[in-house]
Amino acid sequence: MNYTLIGHDLIHAAEEMLFQLLPAALLRRQEDDGTDDFCCSALTERDGVMTVQTETRLAGVTRTSTRTAESTGLDEMARKRALSEIVKLGIYDTVAPGLQTPPDWGALTGVRPAKLVRSLLHRGMTRGQVAEQFRDRYFVSPARTALAVRCAAYAEQALDGLGEDEVSLYLGIPFCPSRCAYCSFVSSSIEKSAGLIEPYVDALCADVQGTGALLREMGKKVTSIYIGGGTPTTLSADQLARLMDVTAKAMDFSALREYTVEAGRPDTITPEKLHAIRAGGADRVSINPQTMNDEVLARIGRRHSADDVVRAYEQARSAGFRVINMDTIAGLDGDTPESFAETITKLIALDPENITVHTLAIKRGADLSDRAGNAAQHDAVRQMLDFAMEHLPRAGYGPYYLYRQKFSAGGFENVGWCKPDTESFYNIAMMEEIQTILSCGAGGVSKRVDRDTGRITRFTPPKYPREYLEAGERIQAGKRRLLRESED
Ligand code: SF4
Repeated sequence: MNYTLIGHDLIHAAEEMLFQLLPAALLRRQEDDGTDDFCCSALTERDGVMTVQTETRLAGVTRTSTRTAESTGLDEMARKRALSEIVKLGIYDTVAPGLQTPPDWGALTGVRPAKLVRSLLHRGMTRGQVAEQFRDRYFVSPARTALAVRCAAYAEQALDGLGEDEVSLYLGIPFCPSRCAYCSFVSSSIEKSAGLIEPYVDALCADVQGTGALLREMGKKVTSIYIGGGTPTTLSADQLARLMDVTAKAMDFSALREYTVEAGRPDTITPEKLHAIRAGGADRVSINPQTMNDEVLARIGRRHSADDVVRAYEQARSAGFRVINMDTIAGLDGDTPESFAETITKLIALDPENITVHTLAIKRGADLSDRAGNAAQHDAVRQMLDFAMEHLPRAGYGPYYLYRQKFSAGGFENVGWCKPDTESFYNIAMMEEIQTILSCGAGGVSKRVDRDTGRITRFTPPKYPREYLEAGERIQAGKRRLLRESED
């Protein structure tokens, strides 16, 4: 599709909405040459009112829309936000009627729908008014609205009793036994980088000690810890024990609510490692099948079977974890609604406290054939998510956190489901941005959240393990600046 913008330059807003609606289209900012679908978004502004007129030709049918917003009294940021919204709504008005099935999230873009719910509630709306706004302004389906409202309630609950002097902690292990076909994380396979692991653990322990010293100096306690990756269980039992021991000694755990280690791939899990993780203080572990179909597992490059998942799960159960989470992905190559339903049914039968349902995200940067294939999968993915949404609640799970991925085809969501009182604080804190999270390890972004203003500030260390090994002091200085700024 070709598109032009007149009177404004909100390329990001226009492309985000177009991509959500037409994930397989190649978007080009150029004049109409009559050969392709075409969209024009034009802004005029008079007497403190912005008017966006949109005209779209899709499959030979032309539709128009006029949207307005007040601009009087708005600062630059607020004006841009209001304009961005009417640009997106104009595109939605003119494209959605030409689609067989409009997206479930309607005209709502953005990664954190539950955060939007909370912000509307804080502005004085009732839950009913928020639901009306989701339906009437953004055309969000009732099921997605209910999801967002429910997750917002969990975030408010997580804030209960949360001290200003508390932070959460993330430790990153960017190694995996092999690369999964769909992976978008920075992670090296151990076949290529086995020699890096020991020096990396040394550097990570030093990072944890430096971060712990900084937190103690500032009187900060740790609310939750998440050791993620990559696959943390690519480390040996001894390396895991050492890292967790260093962490326990470096930090003030007097406010600790939860400690998670992502065990990830079942082909890395052993009773010794689970024992080390449990003895190190973790009470939550994540064992991630992604699918319980052996053919799909082979296709996506996971070197384990569904039986390995069951074995790892039973070992984790015997090790005595309070909460076990299991991750799945809807839309994997070769998966079908039927086999996805079997995966969910098998996981429900295992009875973990948490089940997380992700959607495979094909990003805007992916090549066109991948995007077309993914777009063709939309209906299948919708059926998969519908199955999860129907059957998980029947088995006693409720949705507790939610996020969408920017510029991902179809704009579906990832949802964490939990049995009562087993929600993960860390996942809520991370996705709802209710608390500062400090990261240790390569690529882990530290994020300071100002709870009064909502302002977010970030510090990003080197992405790759080799650069990280050389960056020691720079990383500590960056985190010190990030935390100290809040006191200036
Ligand atoms: S286990 Fe996770 S982080 Fe590792 S390659 Fe697979 S998807 Fe990526």
